[in-house]
Amino acid sequence: MDIRKRILVTGGAGFIGSHLCRRLLAEGNEVICLDNYFTGNKSNIIELLDNPYFELVRHDVTEPYYAEVDEIYNLACPASPVHYQYNPIKTIKTSVMGAINMLGLAKRVKAKILQASTSEVYGDPEVHPQPESYWGNVNPIGPRSCYDEGKRCAETLFMDYHTQNGVEIKIARIFNTYGPHMNINDGRVVSNFIVQALKGQPLTIFGDGSQTRSFQYVDDLVAGLLALMQTDSSVTGPVNLGNPIEFTMLELAQTIIELTGSSSKLVFQPLPQDDPKQRKPDIHLAKQLVPNWNSDTSLQQGLEQTISYFEQQLV
Ligand code: NAD
Ligand code: UDP
Ligand code: UDP
Repeated sequence: MDIRKRILVTGGAGFIGSHLCRRLLAEGNEVICLDNYFTGNKSNIIELLDNPYFELVRHDVTEPYYAEVDEIYNLACPASPVHYQYNPIKTIKTSVMGAINMLGLAKRVKAKILQASTSEVYGDPEVHPQPESYWGNVNPIGPRSCYDEGKRCAETLFMDYHTQNGVEIKIARIFNTYGPHMNINDGRVVSNFIVQALKGQPLTIFGDGSQTRSFQYVDDLVAGLLALMQTDSSVTGPVNLGNPIEFTMLELAQTIIELTGSSSKLVFQPLPQDDPKQRKPDIHLAKQLVPNWNSDTSLQQGLEQTISYFEQQLV
């Protein structure tokens, strides 16, 4: 009898999803990667296509999907502000209808399901660092709302399917994550700065660059997602996954200029509306539930890996 678990990864051709598919296969699982290729693409998972335990499905999570699986990682959703604001109605449909369909699937086949939620549920936080108990400070009608409120609604749906239908759920609140396989045109700050530095273009600082973020390397996140999925079934509430070391955007720009040896200058552009001023995870809960998990790859180490990936992409 085949004891491999069959695992569905929605958004599996994207940045985080592609790392997750690779890791799940390496651990001896069978993986179904579902994606509509809005921001993901086949090149992220091309080397997996020859693996008989890997299956790639072009599908949109806003439509029902039927398969027999043991676990589901629900990652499908554009994550960069540029992409999620391109078609905000589609973004919120993806979060909400995608969650309903994947929860309906999990309920039918009794699969365990993990939601890729986000630190954006805290909005522009007035509590710092952010613990899971903080309810957030989110504008419901601004340019970021389609993403933030979509993810908040998805969390609500997860909890309700758990309490009403007994679905076994996990909710990961992911903080800013970066690494190889981010799209060159992703639009988020780490890939923007690296690509600009490598091309000798000015680095675009939005606002005065004093706003902060805490950057997590993708391998640390993937280890956290796997570990959270395997926690006891009593663990159902949201869990922050992030690296708690906080940087300003000016510090990030300076570090990337040094590591790339670039002669790029900085250029200041207007701060987008509702851009959070600060963000840093409180990870006490994650450390308590998954004592062996660490998100401690240093920014320098993680950036070196990411820079060398983009160097190869740009030749
Ligand atoms: P990404 O844009 O690279 O990946 C998202 C993937 O979902 C892409 O492959 C895209 O094509 C796919 N997708 C989008 N809409 C879809 C739909 N309707 N049907 C099927 N597939 C669809 O972004 P990422 O950084 O890899 O993010 C993955 C998940 O993690 C997202 O849910 C995101 O909200 C969450 N997250 C990421 C971060 C981060 O810093 N990277 C932080 C918090 C949460
Ligand atoms: N669904 C799905 N795959 C399944 C089972 C359900 O995509 O294997 C979808 C289904 O189409 C429905 C949603 O999940 O729209 C929610 O399912 P649920 O059973 O909770 O609700 P209902 O079908 O009663 O509306
Ligand atoms: N940012 C920037 N220059 C860029 C892209 C982003 O200064 O080219 C800033 C952005 O205004 C925000 C921070 O970097 O304050 C992180 O932005 P990102 O889009 O990566 O993630 P999020 O705002 O969703 O945390």
